[in-house]
Amino acid sequence: MPEPLNLYGLDRRQLEQLFVDQGLQAFRGRQIMRWAYHQGLTDFASMTDLPKTARAWLEEHAVFELPRVESFQTSRDGTAKWVLDVGAGNFVETVLIPEKGRNTLCVSSQIGCMLDCSFCSTGKQGFSGNLAAHTIVGQAVLANQHLAASGEHVTNVVLMGMGEPLLNFDAVLAATNVFMDDLALGLSKRRVTVSTAGVVPGIYRLAEETDVALAISLHAPEDELRNELVPINRKYPIAELMAACQHYVSRLGPHRKLVIEYTLMRGVNDQLEHAKALAALLKNLRCKINLIPFNPFPGSGYERPATEDIRRFQTHLMNQGYATMLRTTRGEDIDAACGQLVGQVKDRTKRQQRYRERLAQDSVIARSTA
Ligand code: SAH
Repeated sequence: MPEPLNLYGLDRRQLEQLFVDQGLQAFRGRQIMRWAYHQGLTDFASMTDLPKTARAWLEEHAVFELPRVESFQTSRDGTAKWVLDVGAGNFVETVLIPEKGRNTLCVSSQIGCMLDCSFCSTGKQGFSGNLAAHTIVGQAVLANQHLAASGEHVTNVVLMGMGEPLLNFDAVLAATNVFMDDLALGLSKRRVTVSTAGVVPGIYRLAEETDVALAISLHAPEDELRNELVPINRKYPIAELMAACQHYVSRLGPHRKLVIEYTLMRGVNDQLEHAKALAALLKNLRCKINLIPFNPFPGSGYERPATEDIRRFQTHLMNQGYATMLRTTRGEDIDAACGQLVGQVKDRTKRQQRYRERLAQDSVIARSTA
């Protein structure tokens, strides 16, 4: 028996196609989305407006199944973290950040990460594979179920958890489509953000397929330093990344901006000279800047910057006309802050190492996003 198809992993077009393939009408796909996401009902037998034949087929071949929750913790500041069992001894994390008037969910897209950014603890865990689309969507459904108890729901989704979203392109695209679909989570495209360390071909492909908000994890204004912090920069240097950013932003409406993320590390990239170079680099790009003071983890070798340096950095960018937000650290007491998501990744196959070697030589990235 093949595994049943988990329908949380299909977007509207794919669900419609599924029904057409069974000789049924496409609109059955839309009906089933309403049941699952609006009514919270996933038992096919109770979907009374579906024909019996459709219900019977679904019962035999499909499920709506959420990831298994290994643990759930809440932080003193209200931040909540789920650890999800994704099979084979692997666990990923999802973080909910409640703020006044919004509930932002930070979603993982891969089991670990292969990019090995020098300051990110996820990268240190190795890489064990992609998450299925249904596991990416499932993270948001779980959070919505949790919030429903207090009459709330997820208002923003950021793909800033574990993994590099653009290296799991198809699953991430389907999931973001579900997040933005009125028949599902119904979030506006401004409230769903894909974050990338700079997978340039993925940015171009994203521009073809969707117009979600895009964040770029830049962290350094010049190649030498960025090569060290974000090794994928050796493959796609800053000039190529900036060209891809320009292309993406040109496809958005005139009032929309990219987000540039910049993790500040003491004595590494937090000095006035870096702020000046950053302001110059971004001069012609429609963007706003998020500054994230480094969140320490054991053995990282980096430190959080001095408060005066953070302030000076931000002030310079603001004086140059950039909307610049300083991200406050949330959920530190439950290891839920940026860069602290580690889950548990059994990289038994040393796959990360192999990917790194291929990354150095050829086109793993071009292929996986082609
Ligand atoms: N791979 C994607 C998605 C992960 S997002 C990307 O790189 O954009 C993770 C975000 O957390 C990145 O912007 C990164 O800058 C930030 N981050 C990672 N480690 C961090 C740390 N130790 N302290 C603060 N921010 C960190």
